[in-house]
Amino acid sequence: MSDEETLDPENWEELRSLGHRLMDDMIDYLSTVRDRPAWQPLSTEAKTQLDQPLPVEPQGADRAYDDFLNYVRPYPHGTIHPRFWGWVIGTGTAFGAMADMLAAMMNPNLGGGDHGANYVEHQVLDWCKDMLGYPREASGLLVSGGSMANLVGLTVARNAKAGYNIREQGVAAAPHPMTVYGSTELHSCHQKAIEMLGLGSAALRKIPVNADYQIDLATLENAIAYDRAAGYQPIALIGNAGTVNTGATDNLAALANLAQRENLWFHVDGAFGALAAVSPELRPLVKGMERADSLAFDLHKWMYMPIEVGCVLVRDESAHRHAFSLTPDYLSHFERGVAGGSRWFNEYGIQLTRGFRALKVWLSLKEHGIEKYGRIIKQNVDQCRYLVELIEAAPELELMAPAPLNIVCLRYKVPGLSTEALNQLNQQIMFELHDQGIAIPTYTMLDGQFALRVAHTNHRTRREDFDLFVREVIRLGRQLVESQP
Ligand SMILES: *Cc1c(COP(=O)(O)O)cnc(C)c1O
Repeated sequence: MSDEETLDPENWEELRSLGHRLMDDMIDYLSTVRDRPAWQPLSTEAKTQLDQPLPVEPQGADRAYDDFLNYVRPYPHGTIHPRFWGWVIGTGTAFGAMADMLAAMMNPNLGGGDHGANYVEHQVLDWCKDMLGYPREASGLLVSGGSMANLVGLTVARNAKAGYNIREQGVAAAPHPMTVYGSTELHSCHQKAIEMLGLGSAALRKIPVNADYQIDLATLENAIAYDRAAGYQPIALIGNAGTVNTGATDNLAALANLAQRENLWFHVDGAFGALAAVSPELRPLVKGMERADSLAFDLHKWMYMPIEVGCVLVRDESAHRHAFSLTPDYLSHFERGVAGGSRWFNEYGIQLTRGFRALKVWLSLKEHGIEKYGRIIKQNVDQCRYLVELIEAAPELELMAPAPLNIVCLRYKVPGLSTEALNQLNQQIMFELHDQGIAIPTYTMLDGQFALRVAHTNHRTRREDFDLFVREVIRLGRQLVESQP
């Protein structure tokens, strides 16, 4: 007997049977998800069990797994449930989840090197370009999600448009302060990105929107001209393909023209909206997106991949690489061996060690084919049309904004109640929907008014789920009003 230790199981057969058991458990769990509440609060016992000291002695894989079954699994976020429409979060799939397990079992590092996983990511990036109508010569990178994809795109934009070696000299050397433009409906991750890029949040000019929540083009043009005259250096324009609040898409073709005329980098945040391009019927909504210099989108939202996986594509491969490439001796590439190959993704982003996110995308696209994704994306939009009809047919409900895509904002309305009282009432309705495990919409504020917000990237939803949702909002609204003094 050796005195050397390993983390491998002492008995592989025991791990094998645990593996079979957990796979069976999780397939049962997913296939019966509709029968359970969408969400429930954690029990006191679970909270206690999730606040324990560092384990010193082993308890073994079986008992560790039991703790997962008892204290974690019963309290899902809700994202796998057919009536989850919170924030913008995808549903995941069973086979996609298995792919994550396969990826972890191979445990490659996709920072670089010559091995199969890097070829898979390269292939997935090419497929992403094809499905969004983006040119194959573009480069790209899989990242944690939309926030990181936008940060990478905006970093390339800043470096490419600064006009000097900003990597070496930093933003302090800028002859004129740089500015970036987008609408007031931009996702908050853009401000984070601009702050991290050292430009300061004030450099992000938030332009007002029109009644359809699209960036106002005349105001935008004026703002750019005004900034130039005042000594600023406009560098980039961010277009929205699908805003978080209402699912609005800016006039991307007009933005592409403007960016060209003004010599600005055109970045599109298509976190979920970009995927409209996968459906031939919806593709015209995002026309102009294919002209972006960089395009950020998520695969874990409207492509239903398990969290996390997002993607950034950059038209100019060299600009992309020059924003991040740094090759010290210990990362040199060679012509042979595992340090060979031309797919060193660490040169295109911030991470060096990178997981095999690509596998779930590659396997899922093979499993279903892209046409099926297009049909389900279209189905989500049609289901939202259906929800809008239900709202419009219900006198107690109000549709609060145009719903051009997969986001629907509504509220329960009582004649004579103040805005403040309606805000309170609708917030209470939302709490009840969550606490009773009925459905998970979330919320936003539109013009100071609290909206229940349904963001639909759920492949498990059926129309009857929206029937139930509308019925329950009305029931809860009436109940809450009656119980008021
Ligand atoms: C979700 C979202 C983001 C952020 O993406 P993450 O994957 O959550 O990091 C950015 N922009 C829009 C429009 C989004 O919907």
